[in-house]
Amino acid sequence: MTRHFNFCAGPAALPEAVLARARDELLDYRGLGLSVMEMSHRSSDYEAIAERAERDLRELLAIPDNYRVLFTQGGATQQFAALPYNLLGAGGTANFVQTGIWGAKAIKEARHLFGHAVVAASSEANGHTAVPRQSDIELSEDAAYLHYTANETIGGLEFDYIPGAAEGLRRRDGAEVPLACDMSSSILSGPLDVSRFGVIYAGAQKNIGPAGLVVAIVRDDLLDRARADMPSLFSYRALAEAGSMINTPATYSWYLAGLVFEWLKNDIGGLDAMGAINDRKAAKLYAAIDASGFYSNPIAPGNRSRMNVPFVLADSRLDEAFLAESEEAGLLNLKGHRSVGGMRASLYNAVPEAAVDALVDFMADFEKRRG
Ligand code: PMP
Repeated sequence: MTRHFNFCAGPAALPEAVLARARDELLDYRGLGLSVMEMSHRSSDYEAIAERAERDLRELLAIPDNYRVLFTQGGATQQFAALPYNLLGAGGTANFVQTGIWGAKAIKEARHLFGHAVVAASSEANGHTAVPRQSDIELSEDAAYLHYTANETIGGLEFDYIPGAAEGLRRRDGAEVPLACDMSSSILSGPLDVSRFGVIYAGAQKNIGPAGLVVAIVRDDLLDRARADMPSLFSYRALAEAGSMINTPATYSWYLAGLVFEWLKNDIGGLDAMGAINDRKAAKLYAAIDASGFYSNPIAPGNRSRMNVPFVLADSRLDEAFLAESEEAGLLNLKGHRSVGGMRASLYNAVPEAAVDALVDFMADFEKRRG
């Protein structure tokens, strides 16, 4: 068996220790004589798995008691719709900071469902190479919440601050405006102050676990702002009251997410340690890009993503050779998103530092031979 280094943007690499444990527990989960996949979600054995996953996630992110943790389904894209349904019940308008393709999709969905959405700030003018500053954000007078994408996975653009002061965002009339964040490609990449947010959501298939699952972290007081006309499966309140089991949840993905949380706690040592490793990995790759003159990344240094590093070669005619040779060298999935081309190396939590070292060595060698 050979496992290569996988730089896929998602579904992404999972920790090898997690996969090995899932393998060991696959046929017979801890002497129960069945697989987790085959358990009733209402059984006490599965409940223990589900509760443990939530407890570990709460511990990792130090989630305050006044937040509910929901394990739901449909990916982050489902949350593009669920979020406005849940927060626009009392009227008002969804406001957005738009920094790339995923944020644009969230805006499009809100507009599609509710007719309008306000772009409170955008980095479009600079080609999404630097995030708007706090002072650029202009909330509408009827803002019901402000949504942003902490890390744009395709552009490789990451916020270096959390919008709003520590005491929260305010409308001109003084009302608090809850902050909602799509954290799909950066959650768990380092420590986080959850108390600054109204809602955090993240598709699982980068730093959490297998695709399909989506985790939402919702402040208690926001459970009562929902529209009456929404699908009940989207309701944060209904999900919270049912322990995320309104219907059959994605039981196996939830279990694997729990194994990832345990790995982060016990093998890595928590999110401070994870953050330091991620900083080091990203710094190494960006330094190699900047030093080369052959590879380049357009993002303002302060907003460069630690998780997704897009780069282009000085001569795009060499792209195919780069991809073929990197794959040959056991470095998988370096092709950039189809909408932008070039390359992209995703350095999620489960991508080891040795993978970055191998990539940097390969890039230097390729440049020497072909550059
Ligand atoms: N938001 C971001 C930031 C993403 O990276 C992605 C997926 N790459 C999505 C949303 C959509 O996620 P899903 O495919 O789980 O709906």
